[in-house]
Amino acid sequence: MTDIKAFNNKVLDIDLTTQSVSIREISAKVRRLYIGGKGLALKLLHDYIKPRIDPLSPDNILVMMTGPTAGTTAPSGNRFTVMCKSPLTGIFAASYVGGKFGISLKKSGYDGIMIRGRSPMPVAIHIENGNVTIRDASDSWGMDTVDFQESRKDEGDWVVIGPAGENLVKFSVIASDKRVAGRCGMGAVMGSKNLKGIVAQGNRKVVVADPDRFQKALKIARKKVRAHDNTGRRLRELGTAQNVRAFGSASIMPVRNFSKSRFAGMEDISAERIRDQHKVKNHGCPGCPIQCGRIGKFNNRELISPEYETIALMGSNLMVGNLNTIAEWNDRLNRLGLDSISTGGVIGFAMELTEKGMLKSDLKFGDSVNIDKTIEDIAYRRGLGDELAEGVKRFSEKYGGEDFANHVKGLEIAGYDPRGCSGQGLGYATANCGATHLSGATHAVETDPLGGGEKSYLSPHGTKAKAHFVVFLQNIMEMTNSAIFCLQTQYPFLEENPAYKYTPKPILRFVMRNLPVIALATTDLSDYCALMSGLMGYKIGRKELYQVGDRIFNLERYMNCREGISKKDDTLPRRMLTDVGENGWASVELDTMLKKYYRLRGWDENGRPTAKVLDRLSILY
Ligand code: SF4
Repeated sequence: MTDIKAFNNKVLDIDLTTQSVSIREISAKVRRLYIGGKGLALKLLHDYIKPRIDPLSPDNILVMMTGPTAGTTAPSGNRFTVMCKSPLTGIFAASYVGGKFGISLKKSGYDGIMIRGRSPMPVAIHIENGNVTIRDASDSWGMDTVDFQESRKDEGDWVVIGPAGENLVKFSVIASDKRVAGRCGMGAVMGSKNLKGIVAQGNRKVVVADPDRFQKALKIARKKVRAHDNTGRRLRELGTAQNVRAFGSASIMPVRNFSKSRFAGMEDISAERIRDQHKVKNHGCPGCPIQCGRIGKFNNRELISPEYETIALMGSNLMVGNLNTIAEWNDRLNRLGLDSISTGGVIGFAMELTEKGMLKSDLKFGDSVNIDKTIEDIAYRRGLGDELAEGVKRFSEKYGGEDFANHVKGLEIAGYDPRGCSGQGLGYATANCGATHLSGATHAVETDPLGGGEKSYLSPHGTKAKAHFVVFLQNIMEMTNSAIFCLQTQYPFLEENPAYKYTPKPILRFVMRNLPVIALATTDLSDYCALMSGLMGYKIGRKELYQVGDRIFNLERYMNCREGISKKDDTLPRRMLTDVGENGWASVELDTMLKKYYRLRGWDENGRPTAKVLDRLSILY
């Protein structure tokens, strides 16, 4: 096979222990099996990382990887993937982030970068048009992510860690412009390598294989992005915070450490309140027509408007209904380099432990006074903050409360309570990195976030069709995270098609609930296929594209099984399985769904991909 276009087909491999730099060529065969982004990052981790290493040791490899879309005009494609073995969960994890770094890395001549080893002192990596230098960064150690990027923006586009990453907080992030690679402690891995930041700049052109074909596909794709109510209007107007009303009223927004289903202050933290009272303007990833991020006035300061996840975990979850306060915390979390989901999760857990007399602390639901200090204490690992910095799972191992320690495989649960969307529960239980909402966002079809109160496609409760949808959406997300299309493109690309758009909703609902195999087999992926064929220069059809996602999901599961993951880990916190007394909740029948899920995946009864599956998907070829 000839070279695949839209890539440089080169990945930097930097060893910070020996300060050596080499280049790895990516073959067309590997490219076709894994594309780029998450898929290629995972394949490199599989090939170069030894099983059972300590995530904070020099043996861990941090990979940053772009997709074919980076540096082109493909909609919402300039994000990139960060992957490594997570210090929070001890298994493999990926995080996705915007900012300009991915484009600059690609334009400097590399599709991605692997970083291994550990520097003896703080350093920064400089990449400029193919040249790489490793420079002393001792004078920047301790700076927050915003001040650092602001003071050194002349040097190019940065990814950087804040004090939390330097102090090896297990849920610290990597910042890229105003966005963060937020989950699973990527910042701590960078900190463990004594790497403060990486800057890239370059002026190479990304070569599109078939410009005419790409432009034709682009025109259709853009039209759909504009036409869909979510990407054409709602996300621009309300951002992801639009979910507050939708999910708050569907009983899936976390409240009081996931112990209640409704929050009385919901309207006070809604996107509509942000729009009406905080003078917001849009911002977002470069080249994205949607621009879902917003900057607004909070406490008379211009601050990034918090996303849904931050409002959910730092707001309703802690019983705090003040947007100014949440926006100030959001700013501190971003500057210090902390994941807002895990921070809100672990503080909420500590509040409930305190309330139950199992922990002595000043933390109290609804009382925002001590939270500023707790955030700082976590980032600098002071006092109780040092223990909170280890995450909910480890904290519960010391103080008890495992029944209401809300994590899966060590990752704190995102902002969707599975008792109001049982398929999302199966998604959390089986997602490779733990309780993420970014691996099969089934809650979106089990509730009705955009439908103005009409019934959802799948029933929020029960088991019918759930395993089918979780498998399908997990595979689709693996594919889009490897081709690098923002997940928001799924709305227009999957839904702005005649079969979906013009079929009456009751019929769609009937088919999805009762004939999921037909519903999913006929889901239109033609926009992804057309854009990628135009970019890369070979015809990529629906079957091949779907199989890429399936392959990536199974390879990661196989790697996690090597780390000790099995059926025993595919579960939910006891609270989510048994405590269903609230309005809108029902028990998550996990065992029933899990059996079906394993069968659909072709895994054995202990949750291991069988040799037949590995062979069918050309994993371990
Ligand atoms: S929709 Fe939002 S997150 Fe996605 S690419 Fe656009 S600006 Fe970035």
